[in-house]
Amino acid sequence: MTIPPPVGHARVQALLRQAVGHGRVPQTLLFAGPEGVGKHTMARALAQALNCPSAKDGVACGKCGVCVRIDKGQFSDVVEVDNGDIASISIKSIRERVIDLIGYRPFEGRRRVFIIDPADALSVQAQDALLKTLEEPPPAAILILISAYPDALRPTALSRCRRVRFGVLADTEVAQVLQSRHGIDAASAQTCAALAGGSVSRALALDGAELEGDQALAMDLVRKSAAPSLDAKLKAAAELAKSPTHRRARESLDIRLALVSSLLRDIGALSATADGTAVLSNTEREADLRALVRAYPPDRVITAFGVVARGQAALNRNASPKIVADWVAVEI
Ligand SMILES: [Zn+2]
Repeated sequence: MTIPPPVGHARVQALLRQAVGHGRVPQTLLFAGPEGVGKHTMARALAQALNCPSAKDGVACGKCGVCVRIDKGQFSDVVEVDNGDIASISIKSIRERVIDLIGYRPFEGRRRVFIIDPADALSVQAQDALLKTLEEPPPAAILILISAYPDALRPTALSRCRRVRFGVLADTEVAQVLQSRHGIDAASAQTCAALAGGSVSRALALDGAELEGDQALAMDLVRKSAAPSLDAKLKAAAELAKSPTHRRARESLDIRLALVSSLLRDIGALSATADGTAVLSNTEREADLRALVRAYPPDRVITAFGVVARGQAALNRNASPKIVADWVAVEI
C-alpha cells in the first residue's frame, strides 16, 4: 500500500521539500488556511519526510512502516493534539501531551513532531504555557500549529511561529482527494467537488441522498423568489435555513446557497443559448429551470449571483443563517 501524497498546494509542498532537503525546517510552524484543504495531511506528510528512513530529496517514500504509522497517527514520535469533543484544548492537556514530553529525544524516528489542530482551540492559559516552548523548542522537536482562524490566537503565540499559508483547492483537486483518500466514485466525487468551494471536508458533508433534498430546497427558493409573494419567499427561506441535526446550520446553508448559485448559473446558460445547446450542471432539472428563464433575464441572473455570493461571505463572517436566507430570498 502506498499512501497518496498530499494534493495541491504546490508552492507549500516545494517550500517544505526544500526545507527538509536542506535540513532547515523551522521548528515552530503555523499552517494557516481554510477548513478542509489538507493542512493536517500536509503536516503528517512533513512528519513523514522528516522521519522516513527512505526519504529522498525531502519527500517520504509513503510505503514503509514509519510512513504508514504516521499516516494513521500511530507513530510514537509524532504527537497529535486536538480538542476531541470539547470546545478547547486545556492547559492540562498541553502540559501532558506537549510541554512534559517535548524535551525527550526521539524514541524511534529522527525528529519529534507535535501537531496541534485546531490551534485556535488552545485556551488562553494553554497558549501562555506554550510560549516558552514556542520560543525555544528543544533541538529535535518541531511544532506545527494548524488553524483556519489564526487571528483567534494570541499575538504573542503567533509571532513565534513561521506562518505557512494555504489557499483553497481546485475542484479537480478536491475530486482527486475524494477518490484517492475516501474511495468515492469519480462521478459523485465530481458532483460534490463542484459544490464544495475547494474544501474536502465540505465535499464530504455533501452526502448523495441528502444532496437531493438540498437541491429541492434550493430549487424551491429560486422558484418562489421569482414570484411576487413575500410570504412564499420567506417560507422558502425558512426551509432553506433549517439544517439537518448532524450538520451545523451555517455549513448547511452554505451548501444550499452553492446549489442556488448553480441553479442560477444554469438558468443563465439556458437564456443565453436559445438553441438548446446549453451545458447544465443540473441536467435533471432542465424543465423546471427552463420555466424560470423568463422570470430571470440575464441581468437579473447576474445580480442574483452576486447576492448569493454576498450571502455566503456574510455567513463566513458569522452572520445568522436565518437572516442571510431571508435576505437572499428577497434580493435575488
Ligand atoms: Zn517511508
